[in-house]
Amino acid sequence: MAWPAIIAASLGLLASTDVRAQSRQDPAANACSVDVVPQRLPRLVLDVAISCAIMGKLTLRPSGGRMAEFVSDMRDGERRSVEAVARDWTSKATSGTASLSYRFDLDAYLEDANRVTTGVRRGDTRLALLDAWLLQPLSAGLALPLAITVRQTGETRFATGLRYSAGAWRLQDVPVRFAGYTVFGGFKLDSVSVPTPGSLASAGAAGSTPASPAYVDVVTMDGALAMPQAHLTDWVRQSAAAVANYFDGYSDQRSLLVVMPTPGSGVPFGRVVPGGGISMVVLVGQSAGARNLYNEWVLIHEMIHTAMPFIYGRGTWLMEGAATYLEPIIRHRAGWKSEADVWREWIDNMDRGLPALAEIGLRNGGSPYWGGALFMLLADIEIRRATDLRLGLEDCFRSTAQNANGVERWSVEEMLGSCDRLTGTTVMADLARRYVEGNSPLSLPSLWRDLGVESRDGMIVYDDRAPLAAIRDLIVKGPAARRGRSVPMGRN
Ligand SMILES: [Zn+2]
Repeated sequence: MAWPAIIAASLGLLASTDVRAQSRQDPAANACSVDVVPQRLPRLVLDVAISCAIMGKLTLRPSGGRMAEFVSDMRDGERRSVEAVARDWTSKATSGTASLSYRFDLDAYLEDANRVTTGVRRGDTRLALLDAWLLQPLSAGLALPLAITVRQTGETRFATGLRYSAGAWRLQDVPVRFAGYTVFGGFKLDSVSVPTPGSLASAGAAGSTPASPAYVDVVTMDGALAMPQAHLTDWVRQSAAAVANYFDGYSDQRSLLVVMPTPGSGVPFGRVVPGGGISMVVLVGQSAGARNLYNEWVLIHEMIHTAMPFIYGRGTWLMEGAATYLEPIIRHRAGWKSEADVWREWIDNMDRGLPALAEIGLRNGGSPYWGGALFMLLADIEIRRATDLRLGLEDCFRSTAQNANGVERWSVEEMLGSCDRLTGTTVMADLARRYVEGNSPLSLPSLWRDLGVESRDGMIVYDDRAPLAAIRDLIVKGPAARRGRSVPMGRN
């Protein structure tokens, strides 16, 4: 079988033998192979065949929503029809390989769902979370690891952020409902090279080419963009380089970014779904010029999420607070935002987070974005003070990124504890006691006064005699060794 060049490109550095191995496989013990054949009837349907090497019965269960209404023709390994009981389809007991197959009417589902958060169709490109079309295989109530193959042709292609190895996309430690976006149909795919995770730890700024570059696979959905495609991919590459400068490399060796053109000139929405491999969707205004994009915060914000573990157990404030706090810092260090504009943004907005810390307690509510960002500012100040300016919050995030990206799941305690261990302080534990578990009074005017920064008639004015002036200087610009790492904007 001849594989079109686009598939070879999307598989990056894999040897051609691996590409040819992408066909129906025998499942590993206590695992399943999932073979997907897209068919154009002409509406796009997916024929899904699931074979699992298990003892006993195989059950397929929808994750939720209305996807089960679009499943038809469920059959077992002997091609006998299987009816749903309650919401599950279950095979007869086997002592070897249990198989079930079904047809999923993807286009009918997407017409019904029509939301970027679950599934949406634009022209010939279909975007859907994995759990929009894949039923969860279960054995004795437990989710089984999956090896997924998809038959692709020149006109019907497939893309996903799931990790790929030995001829299949893998979903191993998380259930289908946590997995990210998939794309089917005819679409443009550009593999954009970005700095490999950890590669900038000693090398210096992004721009030096590491031995084995990492890639972001950029899928652009149908819908005319005013800017040339090359300007769009430049923006993704330079944004990833800006984020990589902060974290000493990009978040993962391979990830998926889906660009969905939308009316307007900005970037109104982005979302990361990292289970089993990082996937991200961003809406980009059809009339946007590339220069507009470098003034937008959404892509950098979402890329920060991919560089941090997913924080479970009321950890939204920690994830959103970090992304809100780091985004203007990263854009300043890239040379895309002035230091004064960073302080102006904080002085104008941090009071939106004040109730979460001073009245509610971050784990109990308030704005996770600005409440979390205010917590991060306090942590940054206290770490720099406690270490005599030697370390900052950035050292915690950089260290975490070497061990875990968005694919991993950590608790709030793991995240804060790892920072305190790195800095040799109790800054995070102390702040968590005051502002996360409980609430404590906090005065923003005195905070700005101590830092020596003030917004006077819209002008940012610094006072270098203020007690925390040296810390203020480090927070946005970083330590001397990390300055001068600007990232040029791409063609615009
Ligand atoms: Zn966010």
